[in-house]
Order: sequence, then structure tokens, then C-alpha cells
Amino acid sequence: MGGCSEGHIVMLPFMAQGHLIPFLALARRIHQATAFTITIANTSLNIAYLSSSIAKDPTLSSAQSHHRIRLVPLPFNSLVHGLPPNTENSEALPFHKIINLCRASAALEAPSMELVADITAKEGRPPICIISDVFHGWANRVAERFQTVNVTFTTGGAYGTATYVSVWQNLPHRSAEADEFQIPGFPDSTRLRRSQLHQFVREADGNDLWSQFFQPQIGLSLRSFGWLVSTAEEIEPLGMEVLRKYTKLPVWPVGPLLPPAMLNHSSSSRPKNLGRHSGRESGISLQECLEWLDLRPESSVLYISFGSQNTINPTQMMELAKGLEDSGRPFIWVIRPPFGFNPEGEFRSEWLPEGFEERRQGLLVRGWAPQLDILCHKSTGAFLSHCGWNSAMESLSQGVPIIGWPLAAEQTFNSKMMVEEMGVCIELTRGMQGTVTREEVKRITELVMDNKEGKGEEMKRKATKIGELIKAALTEDGGHQKGSSLQAMDDFISALLSAQTQRQKQLPSSN
Ligand code: UDP
Repeated sequence: MGGCSEGHIVMLPFMAQGHLIPFLALARRIHQATAFTITIANTSLNIAYLSSSIAKDPTLSSAQSHHRIRLVPLPFNSLVHGLPPNTENSEALPFHKIINLCRASAALEAPSMELVADITAKEGRPPICIISDVFHGWANRVAERFQTVNVTFTTGGAYGTATYVSVWQNLPHRSAEADEFQIPGFPDSTRLRRSQLHQFVREADGNDLWSQFFQPQIGLSLRSFGWLVSTAEEIEPLGMEVLRKYTKLPVWPVGPLLPPAMLNHSSSSRPKNLGRHSGRESGISLQECLEWLDLRPESSVLYISFGSQNTINPTQMMELAKGLEDSGRPFIWVIRPPFGFNPEGEFRSEWLPEGFEERRQGLLVRGWAPQLDILCHKSTGAFLSHCGWNSAMESLSQGVPIIGWPLAAEQTFNSKMMVEEMGVCIELTRGMQGTVTREEVKRITELVMDNKEGKGEEMKRKATKIGELIKAALTEDGGHQKGSSLQAMDDFISALLSAQTQRQKQLPSSN
């Protein structure tokens, strides 16, 4: 497919790390597979993050210097949307303000129209497609206006996305009497419990702010030409089947969109250029982190992180810390102020047991850690995660099993899939209301990290298998047989080119 045709793709990611990172990874894949120019548009802060990530990646920085990957800032004023000054990313927001950012993101429609108008005028034809976030369904209007196509990219997995979309569109729990209920689009045997719904969904009735944001945006996204998913066909057969049936659209599983260096390092070699995929500064130097890991036995370290924008409540934090001490296992824990405190503020030692950090059983990393390097290190044995899709894929690609603590978005659905379909996860608790006890932390940590026998061994084996499937989907076997995700990318590009040819045929001959 390399260098197949000239064309321009405009990308419109949502304003959150968990969306920007896979969008950039998707841009990298398209850049490698085609000769297209790619413009990623977002607010200036997010463009700065993307620019910093690109600068650290030799393949992307050369593409940028050759203008094949362009970053365009769109005007955005957080104050007019009831957000704190200069808030352009979900990371800086307390939970209850995230909805303001979601609603504010629709304000990017007008500058996106201008951007596409500008490209169309300069190049004499519209971009070959717009790739928009599933939360930016409005991009379909931009595509329709310029007679091109919009493709929705869900940065989640197939199962999690299908559940999320179906739950928001149908609010099935509202008509169910029992605690367990069916999810429209899924087989009867796949059921959800109310506790697997985020409080916002549980309370949604179609007239609340969340429904008013999600229902129209998802509805618009279902008008797209097709959907791209950051997953591989082989690891999510059920999710892919349901997503295709539910959207009634072509769905191309082109992922998971991991940095290539994560895929081809051996257990003894250390992958390079992983640390800055987000463009954010880490709370620890990479060298210090790796040296600490080097001193730990193989598969002995528990890595703990709740992603780019979530945290836990103060009681949960205290119990987690005590349980870790009881387990005696080494850990790396990315700490942020607990719920109720400024997420960007200083971390206070009173939130942890007295002397916890000084006892040096584990490494406490403030704010942001070099997650990919940690997960690729042979000393890492398990990941206590909020089950964000990127984190899940990063972990499983390295054969690292997961202790689930889903907190928001589609994370409970990812966790459910990883427990029931993949068998690589066990849930410690759910949400910020979930009970966590030091005893349970110790029990589950030991169960998962004791990977020589029983449940821990089974989870490790299954995680290793998923890692192999991910790698196979993303590799070319001696140039002959393409992995399924590479093939899906080719199919996507072919579909775009055919649609473009079709459009050109329909133009009046004078054009
Ligand atoms: N991440 C990181 N360091 C951290 C926390 C997160 O590098 O300390 C990265 C992580 O590798 C992943 C992304 O941020 O690529 C988080 O995305 P995910 O989908 O897991 O969760 P979200 O932040 O969207 O909830």
C-alpha cells in the first residue's frame, strides 16, 4: 500500500490524553501505509502535547518536517464554557467538570469547518476524509458540507465501545426491573449489572447533560462512512461482531495502536523511545525508574496507575497503601491527590500511612510515569489499572495480567470483557464508591502475582497469548502474510480511495 496515492486526511481527536495518544498513533500508521498528508487539529495546549510527542519520535518528526503530518491549533476559550482558565484537556479537571469539557468540545465544529474550507480552497478538492473522535459526531456535518466522508475512530476497544454506545443510546437499565439487564445488540447471555454503570449513566434519563451530549454525538457518529477501532479482530471476536451489527457500518480493527517499539523488543532487550508518547513530563526520570526495576526479580513488581485523568477517594487510597504493605510486594504507584482535592496540586503525605514512602517498599511517582517502559520491563508482574483501553492494551501486549479497578467512561465494560472473554483480569473493586479493604488488596495481589500456579498462572498464560495475538495482528510475516490489523488498514485505505473515485464520477463533467 505504501505511497498509494496523494490525499489529505484531517483528524479531530477529543481533548484528553487517552484520545490524543491513539490518534497520533493512528496518524503514524496511516503515514506509514500511504502518501497522504495528515492534519491533526485541536486546541493549542493539546497541539503542544502532540508536537512534543512527535519531536521524540524520529519517524513522525521527519514526517512533520516534510509537512506530511501537520498540527493545526484551533481557537478555544475555556472560560466561555464554564471551565477554569486555559483548560483544554480532561486531565486538569475534577470529575464533575468533565461534562463541561465534553459540551465545550462541540465548539470546535466552527473552526474545523474553516480549516476544511481552507484545505479545500488551497488544494482544489476536499480532504479524502475526516477522521473524528466518537465524541465528535458533529464532524459528519463538516464532511457532508464539503462532500467528503467522515470516519469515526473509537479509541476504545470493540466490546467496550459497543457497550458504551448501546448503553447511552438505549439506557437499558431504566426499563429493567432486575439488577442485571440485557444490553441491546449483545447476545442474551451477556448482561450488565447496575454497579457496572457509572453514576452518570445510572442517573441518566435522556434529559440530563450527559445524555444530551452523548446521544446526539453518538447518533451523528453512526452516520459516518465507517468506524476504525484500536483493537485486533482476534482478541475481541465478540466485540467486533456486536459493533459491526450495531453500527451497521464497515468497522476496521486497525489496532491496538501501540508504539511499534513495544511490539518487537525481546524480554532481554529494552525498547527505545517509549517514555514520551504522551508529550507529558514524568514525575521520575526514566533512568531512575529503570534502575529501580532492574534491581527487582522478574515479574515481581505491581504497577499501579489510574490513567491520565482519574483518581480514587482518600479512604480507598489509605486501604490500598495498607494492603500493599501487608502483601510485602514491590510496586510502582503513580500517585495523584485523591478525589475531592485539586488533581494538579501537591501530594500530601497524610493521604498515605505514616512513614509509607520512607519505608521504600515501592516507588511512588508523582503525577505521570513512563508507563510503557514500566510495562515492557521484565520485573513488572501485574498492573493494577483503571482499565482504560490504552493501558489495557499496553499491558496485555507485554503479557502482563491486570487487576481491574474501573473508574469511569467504558472502563467497567473493558474490565468485564477482560474478565469474562479473555480471562486476563480480576476485579478488585469498581468506581470511587467501591469498597476496598487492605485484606482484599493483599489477597488479590497475591493471587495474581503468584503466577507459578492456580489463577495467577492461568491469567499470566492467557495474557501472554493475547500479547502474541496482538503482535501477530500487527506484523508482516516475511512480506507475504499481513497481520489482520495491517490488512484492515489496507482495506480501510482502499475503501476511502474507492469512495473518492465514486464521488469524482458523480461530479458534473465541467468540473
Ligand atoms: N499514561 C502514562 N503515564 C501515566 C499515566 C498514563 O504514560 O502515568 C499513558 C498510558 O500509557 C496510556 C494513556 O496515558 O497510553 C492513558 O490512556 P488510557 O486509555 O489507559 O486511560 P485514560 O487516561 O484515557 O483514562
